[in-house]
Amino acid sequence: SDTLERHEFGAEVGRLLDLVVHALYSDREIFLRELVANAADAMDRRRFEALTQAVSAPSPDATITISPDKAARTLTVADAGIGMTKAELAQNLGTIARSGTRAFSQSLGDGKAEDKPSLIGQFGVGFYSAFMVADRVTVTSRRAGADEAWTWASDGQGSYTLEAATRDEPGTDIVLHLKEDADEYLESYRLDHVVRKWADHITVPVAIVSEGKTETANQGTALWRKSKSEVTKEQYTEFYRHVGMNFDEPWATLHWRAEGALEFSALLFIPGMKPFQAVEGERASKLRLHVRRMFITDEAELLPTWLRFVQGVVDTEDLPLNVSREMLQATPVLTKIRRAVTGRVLSELTTRAKDAEGYQPFWENFGPVLKEGIYEDYERRAEIAPLLRFRSSAVDGWTSLPDYVLRMKDGQEAIYYLVADDADALASSPQLEGFRARGVEVLLLSDHVDAFWPEQLGRFEEKPLRSVTQGGLDLSKIAAGEENGEAPASVDALIAALKTALAKDVADVRTTDRLVESAVVLSASGGGPDLQMQRLLRRAGR
Ligand code: ADP
Repeated sequence: SDTLERHEFGAEVGRLLDLVVHALYSDREIFLRELVANAADAMDRRRFEALTQAVSAPSPDATITISPDKAARTLTVADAGIGMTKAELAQNLGTIARSGTRAFSQSLGDGKAEDKPSLIGQFGVGFYSAFMVADRVTVTSRRAGADEAWTWASDGQGSYTLEAATRDEPGTDIVLHLKEDADEYLESYRLDHVVRKWADHITVPVAIVSEGKTETANQGTALWRKSKSEVTKEQYTEFYRHVGMNFDEPWATLHWRAEGALEFSALLFIPGMKPFQAVEGERASKLRLHVRRMFITDEAELLPTWLRFVQGVVDTEDLPLNVSREMLQATPVLTKIRRAVTGRVLSELTTRAKDAEGYQPFWENFGPVLKEGIYEDYERRAEIAPLLRFRSSAVDGWTSLPDYVLRMKDGQEAIYYLVADDADALASSPQLEGFRARGVEVLLLSDHVDAFWPEQLGRFEEKPLRSVTQGGLDLSKIAAGEENGEAPASVDALIAALKTALAKDVADVRTTDRLVESAVVLSASGGGPDLQMQRLLRRAGR
């Protein structure tokens, strides 16, 4: 028809699709999880938009329906969600926009070809995973609030088409034309099994329509509303992967219900790996806020930025369903929830920190983020400080402030630290020589945030924190390990530092008895010409 438009996929999509289509999978059933999750998100978004904008809500008994058609060899996933405009179809299904898929596509660049299928299983690649089981996919969608509908269609071979369509109600139908080897997804028992396994926690009912009968496959119980004893480890892990686009096991799972003055359920996770969305990128917490199960927003900043690595859901009874953006910003309910949730996460970390080995992966993934709390959160500073871990001149591995204090020498009054760009430069720094000579431990800091927090913390257990580069440090109350009758260790350190700094320009730097009032003198080695010395001087001073 003359309304048919053909578009090429973005280069990244082409590459991704090629891989999805040609790889072999153990877990290709996850395509259904991806499509059901998208449908559920779309329903949540429509419900939320209906509260604040001129958009009709989905009917209260709306379901996601999965309909296999054996004669046509199609599988249709239909929702009454927010839908997509023509432009959104092109943007969402024609390019790689979301961070998870982009990270996946980048990670394909590394690693061996034979590892790639399992990567797909772990990540899920969202909508595109439909091409694992289908050789043609059509998406007919009508955006809530709009009259027109559009059909997106593709065989996953480099291009897609867009065409005007009709649809009575807002929402989306995704029709998969199944590949020959994907017959199993025409069987309702198989579909039922996959939905129970992967989509049980989805709060929108998922119905499988088969031979005129409709059966609801998922329990639809929001996992976080269940009691701990009712939830298996596998269900927690599956939910964790769903909310955070993760593919590992959580390092910590916190599930509790607050009752009394404040009522909420929370299910939080600390990831076992650093997520692909760099911790440095998005600074705000993305914890999801639900009100009586319904998803409201992930922009309520339910945790401070220095706990932004925590993922999950908080579901409260104490806000109205039609809570507005302005209200979210002003309500004391959220302030209280924020305080309670922050306290709970810190107490979990405090408990887990007692097990040094178990705590280490957490620290290596998220330590630099946690450190930000020292300068961002005055109130929590005292709770955060013992949770920090450091490299040190005295011990291998990680150490903590309480342990450092236990090791302090007689007469040592301060906690010493040295900040530099990288750990190797730190360990060999001449700044440390004087401290080494006296057996005084120095914490070695090389994270970006280390330039800021020690001064903010100021003291730990009454001991001031001092940078070893600060002038006027007095080590004289601490006995030196060995008296060698030569210059004091602090002068050695100065000399070593000068040698390093001037390595290109001078042959040697030595202590001397010759000077009384001046600090430094240049001397020519073996009677070199004065002119040469002057040039050296000028260069060194540049
Ligand atoms: P993700 O869902 O992780 O963002 P996908 O590739 O699965 O990535 O989907 C890309 C985008 O397409 C979604 O973010 C969403 O905006 C849109 N989308 C997908 N399926 C639907 C749907 N059933 N209804 C409305 N929008 C959808």
